[in-house]
Amino acid sequence: MALPTPPIPPIKEPEVKCTQIFINNEFVNSVSGKTFPTTNPSTGAKIVDVQEGDKADVDKAVAAARKALEFGSSWQKMDASGRGRLLQKLADLLQRDIAYIASLDVLDNGKPYKEAFFVDAGSCVNILRYYAGAADKICGKTIPIDGAYFCYTRHEPVGVCGQIIPWNFPVPMLIWKLAPALACGNTVVMKPAEQTPLSALYIASLVKEAGFPPGVVNIVPGYGPTAGAAIASHPDIDKVAFTGSTEIGRVVMTLAAQSNLKRVSLELGGKSPNVVFADADLDYAVEMSHMALFFNMGQCCAAGSRTYVQEDIYDEFVKRSVARARARKVGNPLDDSTESGPQIDETQFNKILSMVESGVKEGAKLQCGGKRHGDKGFFIQPTVFSDVTEDMLIGREEIFGPVQCIFKFKTMEEAIEKANKSQYGLAASIFSKDLDKVMTFTGRVKAGTVWVNCYNWLTAQTPFGGFKQSGFGRELGEYALHEYTEVKTVTMQTTSKI
Ligand code: NAP
Repeated sequence: MALPTPPIPPIKEPEVKCTQIFINNEFVNSVSGKTFPTTNPSTGAKIVDVQEGDKADVDKAVAAARKALEFGSSWQKMDASGRGRLLQKLADLLQRDIAYIASLDVLDNGKPYKEAFFVDAGSCVNILRYYAGAADKICGKTIPIDGAYFCYTRHEPVGVCGQIIPWNFPVPMLIWKLAPALACGNTVVMKPAEQTPLSALYIASLVKEAGFPPGVVNIVPGYGPTAGAAIASHPDIDKVAFTGSTEIGRVVMTLAAQSNLKRVSLELGGKSPNVVFADADLDYAVEMSHMALFFNMGQCCAAGSRTYVQEDIYDEFVKRSVARARARKVGNPLDDSTESGPQIDETQFNKILSMVESGVKEGAKLQCGGKRHGDKGFFIQPTVFSDVTEDMLIGREEIFGPVQCIFKFKTMEEAIEKANKSQYGLAASIFSKDLDKVMTFTGRVKAGTVWVNCYNWLTAQTPFGGFKQSGFGRELGEYALHEYTEVKTVTMQTTSKI
């Protein structure tokens, strides 16, 4: 079944169907009876109240996930190909409901409908199909050891996996974690971000419809310091996979270490260098650098948030980037021609504007934008700073908003030195037609992903993750399967003479 191509079905204001906690294939209220509101960032108005999970609900979810793994349970006994068929069915259901799921994210997250449809929900259909195909290809090795022994490895599920995700890509963050974990035979307790629980809870209903046994997937919406911390510190969770800020990644790792030394994988923040050499196609590099930063309102972990431009083309590059930013259409995410919606919430909105203020104070040149757009919701004008340096706050810290920072460099050595001068190492890119420059840069830059003459090109097959304080472990591709299996070595004495 191929994905739909444009034009996509018109968006309808979605009726919110799922607002309860999902445990053991049932939607239930929180143990405490508490709820929390989720709001529409385009207007600031409440959409609906959602059941608020905390430690007691996480305990229930973990008990269900543990039971689903017990020896002899239908999930434990299921053939790997059976897990693949369930993932394939889930992909079919996601595909059936892409428009509805995308409309929930427009409502809850504010991202433009087209992006929610194709980039978020649409790409996740492919990711589910990729892991559906992978489920019965996860295997160990036979190893030619010394002596009269036969040795092989088994790749076994880790067990109950806690997964904690952020709000910037609600569906991809969920599916990137869920799909490989299930392909490997684990069970899951997932906490979506407090700002964006709606698509996750609807996908929970699809998990049940697809036929996954009760307890295999459990989704507990709630707050980080309560529900999230309960997952990270739970004594009966075997692994925690976290995507979010470096600051909270450190907390999650500490809680994991202090509880039961559960396995940890972390996908964290970034301040990714996007390096444009003078020989690059200028118009193309300007457009790609614009997209590298402004896509998803700048709320991308891998955003090209340090644009390095070689001095020979610097002034012209800045001029064209400013013109492009001024032309960017900000507004109602339901509108087909909208390129940028609102920021996720008031906290982020205020944080971004205060970062802009600090940029001005520290001497960067504000070329355009820098203010609220419109008079309601959390919209910010596309903003461009030139003359940014690494010692400025906006030059070294994640802004996570629509603020392009343009730096200048002279030589390859300087570009590499500056690109690597960061605590982060999530992504990097180079725009150049010179293969020697490309090979030198890709070899020496410290980043988990390097794009050459392109940006943000992520697929089901490509591993994604960080160097340095951008985290460790990889999502997507075959590499993600290693994060969700334990390797067991079996050594047998043998008298066979082969
Ligand atoms: P965040 O504040 O770190 O939150 C991420 C998740 O952690 C949320 O579900 C949050 O719950 C939860 N959390 C908060 N405190 C916690 C605690 N004490 N214990 C356990 N969980 C806790 O990040 P964010 O603002 O949502 O997302 C933006 C960050 O994510 C950026 O730094 C971005 O670079 C990073 N990110 C990285 C990647 C990647 O692949 N490397 C991808 C996307 C985003 P609440 O719902 O209560 O906040």
